[in-house]
Amino acid sequence: MIKFKNRKTGEIKTAFSLREEREKTYIKFSKDGKEYGYFRNNIEIIPPDSDKLPFRVYLYTKECYKCHKPTEILTYITYADKPAEDVIFPYDYSRLLKHQNIAAHLQDPSIEYYGLNVIGDIMEFDHMLMEKYSERIKNIYSKTKNETYPMNVCRHCGSGQGWYFIYRDINNAIKNKEKIQTFDK
Ligand SMILES: [Zn+2]
Repeated sequence: MIKFKNRKTGEIKTAFSLREEREKTYIKFSKDGKEYGYFRNNIEIIPPDSDKLPFRVYLYTKECYKCHKPTEILTYITYADKPAEDVIFPYDYSRLLKHQNIAAHLQDPSIEYYGLNVIGDIMEFDHMLMEKYSERIKNIYSKTKNETYPMNVCRHCGSGQGWYFIYRDINNAIKNKEKIQTFDK
C-alpha cells in the first residue's frame, strides 16, 4: 500500500498501486479495482518511513520456540473492545478482565486471556507492521491457524513466532505488572 496526498484537495489516501505515464499518475485503490487517472503534479507520494503507525509498537525479547535463542518481538497491544486504543502501563485490569475470554481461560487457566489484541489478531495492523518492519516481520504459514499471516521471524533461524506464544507472553507480563518497552525507530 502506498500513501499519497492529493495536492488539490489536501486529502491523504492509500493506494493499492500507482503508475506514472506521461503527465498522469494512475491509481488503483484495490487489486481488482478501477484505475483512476490524476495529473501527476497533483499527486505527492508520501514515503513509507514518514508513516506513523496508528498504534504503539511494543518490543520484548523472547526465546525462539524452535532454536531457543533470544529474539526480539514487535507487536501492538490494544484493547479488545476498542482495537485502536493502546493498552498502556499501569494496566487497567478491570477493563482487561471485562472483555476477558472466559471460556478460553477456563480451558487453559495458565493464560488470563485478557481482552487484548496482539500481532496476529488484527490483519490491517499486522500488514502495517510488516510493511514498516519488513526485515523483522514476514508472511509465514501457521499450522495452528491454517493460514498465512505476518509473524515476527527469529533473527537466528528465521522461524515465525506465532500468535499463541506472543499472546501468552503479553498476558503474563501484564499479569505480573511488568512494563513492556516501546520500540521507537
Ligand atoms: Zn530461532
